[in-house]
Amino acid sequence: MKVIKLRAGKERSLHKRHPWVFEGSIAKGSGDAGETVRIESHEGEFLAWGACSPASQIRVRAWSFEQAERIDAAFFARRIERAIAFRQRLAIDSDAVRLIHGEADGLPGLIVDRYGDTLCAQFLFAGVERWKPVIADALLAASGCVRLYERSDASVRDREGLGAVSGWLRLPAGDGGATAVAIREHGWQLTLDVAEGHKTGYYLDQRENRHLFVQWVRRFGCRRVFNGYSYTGGFTVAALAGGAEQVVSVDSSAPALVRATAHVALNGFDAARHEALDADVNATLRRFTQEGRRFDAIVLDPPKFAPSAAHAERAARAYKDINRLALVLLEPGGLLLTFSCSGGVSAELFHKIVAGAGLDAGADGYLLQRLEAAPDHPTTITFPEGEYLKGLAIVKA
Ligand code: SAH
Repeated sequence: MKVIKLRAGKERSLHKRHPWVFEGSIAKGSGDAGETVRIESHEGEFLAWGACSPASQIRVRAWSFEQAERIDAAFFARRIERAIAFRQRLAIDSDAVRLIHGEADGLPGLIVDRYGDTLCAQFLFAGVERWKPVIADALLAASGCVRLYERSDASVRDREGLGAVSGWLRLPAGDGGATAVAIREHGWQLTLDVAEGHKTGYYLDQRENRHLFVQWVRRFGCRRVFNGYSYTGGFTVAALAGGAEQVVSVDSSAPALVRATAHVALNGFDAARHEALDADVNATLRRFTQEGRRFDAIVLDPPKFAPSAAHAERAARAYKDINRLALVLLEPGGLLLTFSCSGGVSAELFHKIVAGAGLDAGADGYLLQRLEAAPDHPTTITFPEGEYLKGLAIVKA
């Protein structure tokens, strides 16, 4: 067993069960990509079992802090079973659920979403890459699903020195391998393609926020809704379900908008109630401001403007700008649902950015609710870095 010895004093974060070891914390030792290593303090005390990633700044990620635990097929089966058992207890009202959420489930770099009977997985770290066949078998055994598609094409793979890979990892004999799947969320019918959609195909993390949105649209009687960064129209369907008369979905992805339009029809809503705009959200908000248009509810769910804290300042300007425009376009009493999924922007900073946007727009608002990712995308108490999606529901004063 290879040993990674930390520099003096660098054992503190592992003592707190934080699973990452950065390159700069290591005094000596290395391992091959994905190899299991023993991580110890400068004094030789056992800290954790981990997996190496020689190409990454996060050089080792911990599998386990228990010295007696062996990193083998049974270990992966236990972790996967525990993660799935937690999801079952959440009693999520959908057949589309995130089963494995990386570090929070003790499986660094592994993302697995379940869409009906199909699993879609991302292996984003050398450790899970090395154990892929074992993990694939354990996922099928624990979930009861028989189809597993791999979408390991996220850019973080580059930092791990891993290329992009996608395709079926497990498919029963005789299955034609259709990558289009149908799911049900809050009673709505939705579709996605595990081979082509963003991430694994759909944004499950917004499930509970879409549900809240239906209720608010209904309660506040929102008639005109702007869904900015709509992707395939999850919040659009929610707005229509809440009784909105007119919904504008804006996204820069034409295929996503085609699907959003299809979702409106699939759920029995009149196509005349929906307008899909293939455009930049910022530019559209500006144009609508010039045209004097007004909305009763606006959703802003942009992509990650700040992948890390280093990009926070530029991202802050971009967030502030769209939120300022949205607060101008909203009627008094109107509802703004605004999000950031940037790991580099904390919830506190995001609140400050939106406050600045309100000042510039000359608008104040009641903070109706703070929003976060759905509970099948958990954060653990020892790994706050895992928290990424934050949002605010605001009623314009
Ligand atoms: N709210 C969606 C998820 C949004 S993901 C849901 O509930 O499913 C972010 C979306 O922003 C993606 O669909 C991406 O295509 C889109 N996007 C990225 N940059 C954009 C821009 N400048 N203008 C419009 N859309 C953009």
